[in-house]
Amino acid sequence: MTIARVALPVATAQFFDYWVPSGFELRVGAIVRVPLARRRVIGVVVELLEATPVAPEKLVPIEELLALPPLPDDVRELAQFVASYYQAPPGLALALATPPAGTSPTRTRDPARPLALTDEGRVTLPTALARAPAARALLERLLPEGAVLEPEALAALAPHLRRVLAHWRRDGLVSARVPRREAEGELRLNEAQAQAVASIDAAHGRFAPFLLQGVTGSGKTEVYLAAAASAVAAGGQALLLVPEINLTPQLVARVAAALPHARTATLHSALPDGERRANWEQAARGEADLVLGTRLAVFAALPRLSLIVVDEEHDGSYKQHDGVRYHARDAAVWRAHRLGIPVVLGSATPSLESYAHARAGRYARLVLERRADPRAAPPAIRFVPARDAGRDDGLAPALMAAIAARLERGEQSLVFVNRRGFAPSLKCSACGWEAGCPRCSARLTSHRAPMALVCHHCGHRERVPRACPSCGNVDLLPLGHGTQRLEQALAAAFPGARIARVDRDTTRRRHAFADMRARMAGNELDVLVGTQMLAKGHDFPRLTLVGVLGADNALYSADFRATERLAALLMQVAGRAGRAELPGEVIVQTDFPDHPLYRALVRHDYDTFALDLLGEREACGLPPFSHLALVSAEAHRREEVDRALDELHAQALAECREAGLAVDVFTPVVAPLARRAGYERSQMLLRSAQRAELQRLLAAIAHRVAASPQRRVRLAIDVDPAALA
Ligand code: ADP
Ligand code: ZN
Ligand code: ZN
Repeated sequence: MTIARVALPVATAQFFDYWVPSGFELRVGAIVRVPLARRRVIGVVVELLEATPVAPEKLVPIEELLALPPLPDDVRELAQFVASYYQAPPGLALALATPPAGTSPTRTRDPARPLALTDEGRVTLPTALARAPAARALLERLLPEGAVLEPEALAALAPHLRRVLAHWRRDGLVSARVPRREAEGELRLNEAQAQAVASIDAAHGRFAPFLLQGVTGSGKTEVYLAAAASAVAAGGQALLLVPEINLTPQLVARVAAALPHARTATLHSALPDGERRANWEQAARGEADLVLGTRLAVFAALPRLSLIVVDEEHDGSYKQHDGVRYHARDAAVWRAHRLGIPVVLGSATPSLESYAHARAGRYARLVLERRADPRAAPPAIRFVPARDAGRDDGLAPALMAAIAARLERGEQSLVFVNRRGFAPSLKCSACGWEAGCPRCSARLTSHRAPMALVCHHCGHRERVPRACPSCGNVDLLPLGHGTQRLEQALAAAFPGARIARVDRDTTRRRHAFADMRARMAGNELDVLVGTQMLAKGHDFPRLTLVGVLGADNALYSADFRATERLAALLMQVAGRAGRAELPGEVIVQTDFPDHPLYRALVRHDYDTFALDLLGEREACGLPPFSHLALVSAEAHRREEVDRALDELHAQALAECREAGLAVDVFTPVVAPLARRAGYERSQMLLRSAQRAELQRLLAAIAHRVAASPQRRVRLAIDVDPAALA
């Protein structure tokens, strides 16, 4: 009898044994459905055995072998590495690599035989397509032209036919040459870009990590696409990771233009399950040449993977903050190493980790010094005092004047503030009472339309009181400025202006973000107000002013990564202004214009700033000069939290003593957010100069964390935490 050992998506280090019914062609990596307790779950076969310690009467059969390609070795090994490095249950890590559950949509087409217009006129047309009148018309139009659809022929097509063709191309049914955006033919890489691409190409077939550093607009994306094109031309698959789902539609269009013959699949968690599953299959069957995806796509099965690109590698969204707390950039580097392929990490503001690797010569540094479009000069940056900003509207007079000037000239402005809602707090003018969340140690944010007080930590929502619950005073003041308040202030100041707000509240709808972008591009908007969602990846030629509010908050934050993040954010937003022929301007409201970060920003000089910050990190023994893990605990009662962490602390100290591990085990402290959603929280920091020593300590205490004796305390380990909060 054959036994399959299966990893299941449950929080245990254990695997589960099942017997394999005859007729099942099982391989390691196969994706199966099995019964577990009273449920049926999807799992991955990790081992095939002759025997099992499980008692025969308890052994049950595998129920179904899903009609999916088995996970390739490198993906299974990646998941196993992630499980062990991040101290996560292996079954949960492997679950990241499997497609969303559900029945496979019936495959309506046969992508193995696409309708190849480029293929000596040999055409296989799926019957459904052949019957459609639009398809017939299109084919009649195309086939006399010969096998290849030239840009002129395409341009001559009626718009509805072009749409049909676009659909076919998207579905991988046809490959057709499409004119480039300028219709001028190929965009020529400049020298710096060409050199970068040549270096990446030259590393084909071996592990080679690159840090591609270039300001926003320097043409990094063109480098990724050119390198991907060579990888695909050589028969490989390329994986392009991006931080935001909002960026993918734009990028998909650029990919289609740059790699017209490549079949692209997108993978991100906002896709409907069926679509994501179909795309996953295309990738796993080797049918997709290029996979474009967010964090999770680092686990995509890609049998011919030969290049990985991580765009905006510094971005915080690559780190998962719950469950399996992996970092997709670091996982990408691991996978590239395992496969022996190049990996390109791109950013205008590299993470200090990657920056330090490049300085130490472990990553090859590729630099794009200037914006690719010669017409685009870097924006001028000005600082205006935040304290002059009107108490109610929050906008400094100089910023208001600059917006007015843009409105006059028919140009666009972006006002950036890192808070959604109306105001971050509601305060009594008489007694100082502030609206607080009953379940968290945090203030409630005032929201308008609909009017409510909302907790941004736990989602708690309540009505705005008419009077102060503490003294009865009716004069309650919203304090500080969120996106809603700025939107209102701008509307009052510029009654004729077309203003839109972009934050998590306005973009819940699936296409809301794309709609905003279309309105911006179509010149239907004058001013955008929004949160960091606006910071990345858009190219609006008429946008010439960026105003930044509330940046100072991060300067004196307790979080050691706050200034690094602020620098990245500011350089990103600055990169939004004036991308083409219209020069841009950035106005930052700050009371500390002499801060080194702002001085570096003025000179567009991330390097000096990064080196400064690296010096500080080294002096304090912080990453990348040390490795951290944060053990957190939460429970309803503070004593339980304290007791659990104190025990773990003692155990960790003992372990270090016994095993001679050089790890700093810090005394547990109350978490910066002491209570969240009704849970009291504390944390304990572990630090070591040696990653391996920290890993050994974690391995020794992990089972305690997993099987914490008092089940009422939730313990978790975060390795390489993004923040100490
Ligand atoms: P990044 O990814 O570094 O922000 P992009 O690749 O998006 O930069 O390029 C910024 C702009 O410059 C885009 O509009 C792009 O089409 C244009 N561009 C990039 N490379 C070139 C080039 N070699 N010649 C002309 N324009 C270019
Ligand atoms: Zn009061
Ligand atoms: Zn709350």
